[in-house]
Amino acid sequence: MYKETTLTEYFNQKPINPNINKIRVKSILNKHEKRDSWFLENYTLNPYSGCSFNCLYCYIRGSHYGGDKTHEISIKSNAAEVLLRQLKLRVKNKEYGIIAIASSTEPYPKIEEELKLTRELLEIIARFKFPVSILTKSSLVLRDMDILKKINENAIIPDDLKPQLRGGAIISFSFSTPDDDIAKIFEPNAPSPKERLETMQKFRKEGFKVGINYMPVLPFLADSEKKIEKMIVLAKNYGADYILTAGLTLFGEGKNDCKTVYYNTLQEHFPDLLEPTKRLFGKMFYPNPKYQRELTERANRLCKKYEIKNKII
Ligand code: SF4
Repeated sequence: MYKETTLTEYFNQKPINPNINKIRVKSILNKHEKRDSWFLENYTLNPYSGCSFNCLYCYIRGSHYGGDKTHEISIKSNAAEVLLRQLKLRVKNKEYGIIAIASSTEPYPKIEEELKLTRELLEIIARFKFPVSILTKSSLVLRDMDILKKINENAIIPDDLKPQLRGGAIISFSFSTPDDDIAKIFEPNAPSPKERLETMQKFRKEGFKVGINYMPVLPFLADSEKKIEKMIVLAKNYGADYILTAGLTLFGEGKNDCKTVYYNTLQEHFPDLLEPTKRLFGKMFYPNPKYQRELTERANRLCKKYEIKNKII
């Protein structure tokens, strides 16, 4: 029997920050119809709703996510017991597959230092031998190296992926720019790109499959030949096995929506880029298809030049 959750103990013992909501969920592990061809996961798991890193381009900012979630983080307080129940059932049916943590928000927001919710869920996953794919901007993931090593060594990996993975844990770091000064403007509360690279390198040295999700690439700030090359060279130098690239999306017209916030930030810091960026998006939430095609071609060509994969496998 799994010990009553450490989170429950936490809630009983300490007053919790009133800005943090506790929500109870019926399900924490969501299964895809089939494995995602890009990220390789069969399941997604999000310990938190909302995020404290406050990236100005983030889609959880504004109406697209049903309200601005950048100032409001919610903890799925019964996550451990629900995951335990769901994994038992998946094991019974032999439905092993990679679990993506987290797919829609950050798995290591600031509050995780104290709450250890993601850590608690990883412990359960390790016990049931499921493989994981972590995507983060945070160096706090280093704290969980011990559990991730167990997952890397012991997880049951789908047969067709075995030859191409280094173990049962894939650790990816997300970037919108390789430049610390630009990141400071657009990702004010997130660890710097340099810190992310150093964290990735530590995982690589421990034998994990690691890489970079260069997404969203900031238009005109991080998408040139020179900037993509810089990101790829850094990725190589810090041990990345792969680099995935995709453009920016911007939603909404309301004052808290990420499109508005992003445009206001350009106006303040890079006024010359405001009109070109507006033209790129028009009324759409993604840049025009020609831009996207050229961005992909540029990234693929440079990946080939530097002999780094543009896919996880
Ligand atoms: S770290 Fe990810 S989830 Fe958090 S604000 Fe930034 S883009 Fe959004």
